[in-house]
Amino acid sequence: MRQPAFSLLPDLYRLDRQLQPLPCPVCNACKPLRVLRRDRYLLRVDLSICEDCGAIYLARGLAGDIATRFYADLYPRLMGVGIYSAPVLGQLRLAAGYRVNAIRSVAGVVDDIVDIGAGHGFFLAACRDAGSRNYWGVEPGPLQRRYGEDNLGLRGRIVAGDFGSPAAAPFQPQMVTMFHVLEHLEQPGATLDVIAGWLPRDGWLVIEVPDLEDWSQIGLQYAHVSHRSYFTGATLTALLARHGFRVHAMQRELYGIHPTNLRVFARVGDADPGLPRPPDVVRLRQQIREQMQPWRLTDGYPKSAWRLGKLAIAGGLNPPPITP
Ligand SMILES: [Zn+2]
Repeated sequence: MRQPAFSLLPDLYRLDRQLQPLPCPVCNACKPLRVLRRDRYLLRVDLSICEDCGAIYLARGLAGDIATRFYADLYPRLMGVGIYSAPVLGQLRLAAGYRVNAIRSVAGVVDDIVDIGAGHGFFLAACRDAGSRNYWGVEPGPLQRRYGEDNLGLRGRIVAGDFGSPAAAPFQPQMVTMFHVLEHLEQPGATLDVIAGWLPRDGWLVIEVPDLEDWSQIGLQYAHVSHRSYFTGATLTALLARHGFRVHAMQRELYGIHPTNLRVFARVGDADPGLPRPPDVVRLRQQIREQMQPWRLTDGYPKSAWRLGKLAIAGGLNPPPITP
């Protein structure tokens, strides 16, 4: 449905006033050291470092019904979900095939698989085409589900459902994948607890997130109200350890699927003893600010304001039907 011109700005302003204080998504402490007050939409999100565990997260953000409404209405208007062009859909298809091969290189096989955040379904289709017999996805977005059903032959394979309590598959999964989902979750640990209950000890959890070890590649444009957590290999390992997972392998791709892509392979089991000590948080804050350069013309606040203005004039985004 087309939104009236300029409705985006008052809607963002309303959202700004509804954002809630949030604890650290890794250790649940409420000891934020603020790095940056506003995100790329100029929303007050308080990007912070947890003084207890060193995780980087939004100390003010989406919670409960406000999050549900945001993902149903504002998120598609801001991100253009549903208007993917044929070249973008082609890239998604290639990334899916690449992921199947990258996962096989560690896990050996890709079968009995549940993909949480299945999106348009390209990964599930790639698993099927690679010989998987049991494959199942959870995706709350109706446009994405419909694409997978209508164009990729996935009818009945992708179910609606939220990521906090994803629906169980009709088979025992040996592998659960989450590509660029975990960083969006208000309580990522709750979803990890559900998955830990599904997987056998020789099963695999495969997670992809952006690697925020270095902000210079991503900058302010990645500071975004929908990104609750900003993981590094160490903070993701620590979160997984708290929820019964031990990391076995990591793969990194600076470009390709996503800038600074990090893929982690974990299994249910005791974590490594001696997790890294929390960093010097004041030094880490300084380092992030230097790397991010939030006022940089090319990708800082000036570009954010320009992009917001264009979106507002366009009346938000008005998704036409997807064409494959
Ligand atoms: Zn923490």
